[in-house]
Amino acid sequence: MQTIKTQDDIKKLGTIMGIWAHPDDETFTMGGIMAAAIRNGQDVVCITATRGEKGVQNESRWPAARLGQIRTDELKAAMKIIGVKKLYWLDYPDGECKKIAVEDALQQIIKCIKECQPDSILTFGADGLTGHPDHKAVSSWAKKAAREAGSKAVIYHAIQTNQQYKAMLKVDKQFGIFFNIDKPPVCEPEQCAICFELDDVGYAQKHAALKAMPSQYETLLKAFEDSLQLSLGTEAFLCV
Ligand SMILES: [Zn+2]
Repeated sequence: MQTIKTQDDIKKLGTIMGIWAHPDDETFTMGGIMAAAIRNGQDVVCITATRGEKGVQNESRWPAARLGQIRTDELKAAMKIIGVKKLYWLDYPDGECKKIAVEDALQQIIKCIKECQPDSILTFGADGLTGHPDHKAVSSWAKKAAREAGSKAVIYHAIQTNQQYKAMLKVDKQFGIFFNIDKPPVCEPEQCAICFELDDVGYAQKHAALKAMPSQYETLLKAFEDSLQLSLGTEAFLCV
């Protein structure tokens, strides 16, 4: 299969469903892909398992008690910038996805799959990309739900290119993005099923969407400044 690289190639993904754990996972991994698909006139749907209320970075500005609502609003703002209208929340507690009854999660996701009939499902791999247990749980739900729904959707797993990972490592000491994993899965661009290089328009949209989530990205975007385009300007996935 040829690697999906361009906005025109994105058409091959048909109706896209993202299945993610926290508000911002979708934008970080597939913000540019979603924006390109919307420009192509494709349908894009996002499922988010939690409201991300555990991701406290600054208690005085974004207090824990209100963070779930803040991040819900931030995701809505980000998706408005990207152009995604269909958002589904599974409403599970942040950090607790592993403890959720699998049947409950499957039931909710299967319902969405039947409703939206995705051709492509983009999610985490079994490693959870950063090793986060919620990411791993969501990955396994996506696979099971697609199978149980009888969906023919192709499942794609988020991955980083070697180049991106190197850029990320520079800021990882400060942020501990990969705190749950020794080394995330990495690959060379030609090994990916999708290796989408964002154009200026798409990159600007993705950057603006991340900026619309200041509770998570204000500090990160500043720290990334030097290597920002390298880290965020490519979106890579493997085909399952
Ligand atoms: Zn996450």
